[in-house]
Amino acid sequence: MSEDKLQVEDGMVVSMDYTLRADDAEGEILDTSAEREPLEFLQGSGAIIPGLERELYGMAVGEEKDVTVEPSEGYGDFDPEAYTEVPLHAFPEGMAVEPGVGLTVRDESGNTYEAYVSEVRDESAVLDFNHPLAGQTLHFNVRIAGLREATDEEKAHGHAHGAAHDDQDDHHHHA
Ligand code: ZN
Repeated sequence: MSEDKLQVEDGMVVSMDYTLRADDAEGEILDTSAEREPLEFLQGSGAIIPGLERELYGMAVGEEKDVTVEPSEGYGDFDPEAYTEVPLHAFPEGMAVEPGVGLTVRDESGNTYEAYVSEVRDESAVLDFNHPLAGQTLHFNVRIAGLREATDEEKAHGHAHGAAHDDQDDHHHHA
């Protein structure tokens, strides 16, 4: 099958150029793949936010689209309760605890959460468990840069094995 007959569907590895703009008057660019490699992911695996993944079905290589994603289908609504104060001695030794620093927090059940330092006090820091883009309406411009069928291994793992993906230091398990 030649590449130009392919379209985005579950089980395809998608290479996608994108620009993400804020929902403000200037349309500030929050993130873009323009100076990097396209983002590569397995369609249908939930690797990207649901409101964007859903809009990609049926797109072909070279096709471009503007997609607006509401918070509920993006990074969630902003939760004013999602703050926790943590004593400074509980942070890993040598870690620079500064506002904006991101970290992964593991709870007693072994679940992991992404958090950001929002404030540093004398003896403690306040962690914000909201995603930095929580509560924001997101404006994407996307262009499909490449499509291929996922390998059996990628399908089993549930993610794409691109140039940037290194199974060696990845946390996933082989089935
Ligand atoms: Zn893998």
